[in-house]
Amino acid sequence: MILEGKVALVTGSTSGIGLAIAKAFAGEGAKLMINGFGDAAEIERECAALGAIHDGADMSDPQAIGRMMKRCADELGSVDVLVNNAGIQHVSPVEDFPPEKWNAILAINLSAVFHTTRHALPAMKQKGWGRIVNTASAHSLIASPNKSAYVAAKHGVAGFTKTVALEAARDGVTVNCISPGYVWTPLVENQIPDTMKARNMTREQVMNDVLLAAQPTKKFVTPEQVAALAVFLCRDDAASITGANISMDGGWTAA
Ligand code: NAD
Repeated sequence: MILEGKVALVTGSTSGIGLAIAKAFAGEGAKLMINGFGDAAEIERECAALGAIHDGADMSDPQAIGRMMKRCADELGSVDVLVNNAGIQHVSPVEDFPPEKWNAILAINLSAVFHTTRHALPAMKQKGWGRIVNTASAHSLIASPNKSAYVAAKHGVAGFTKTVALEAARDGVTVNCISPGYVWTPLVENQIPDTMKARNMTREQVMNDVLLAAQPTKKFVTPEQVAALAVFLCRDDAASITGANISMDGGWTAA
């Protein structure tokens, strides 16, 4: 078990990709803090199953992030493995894009990555070991219409990842992002109605002509595949992988 004795914090881990990463880390023996919204009883069940504690910090709130990081250090120990995964989406043409949605996407998908990282990095450097894995997206590399805030935020995550990788390169800390294509999670399912409206399409047309149209494999990525890569990035074998933006997109960005 490669994470025995390590403290891992996965943001946005009550659902989808983050939950799969949390499960994989628990299976590797990590002392785990999960984060995210959802039904309290369900989160409690998940914590019991994973041997994890949960902090409900809102990733759009820098002060709540600071409190979560301190609580993690106090209750589990300083973070050895940080996964910045919380994210939201909104689909709309730029001229109609609600400014409050823009602000929320930039805060949760990008600025939160800065805040958790700045809190976690000093202890990682001090220990001479750390792993930061950011869930970016194929949209950190290429664009799609009607996703201006998301594409801007994810490109930002990719740039931030590279910068911190350089800053931490001599301290045993690697910083990478994983860029999935379409993964079948509530985030994808929930954007189908808005895309239907924005593009005047049926549900089937959105699935086949918008989502899977981009993916040469014609298959959704699975949350478990992303989690397996996150685990690999924590291995000592991955010590030379830093500043990388690793695609897992069924060939989407190769096209
Ligand atoms: P999801 O909706 O299933 O999960 C999102 C998680 O983030 C949930 O746990 C939710 O509670 C949490 N969250 C949302 N807002 C939050 C906030 N303000 N504070 C704290 N937690 C918050 O989505 P997912 O598809 O698993 O997405 C996870 C990450 O993967 C996101 O960063 C997303 O951009 C990225 N991603 C997803 C896909 C995909 O196709 N699903 C593709 C590429 C990248």
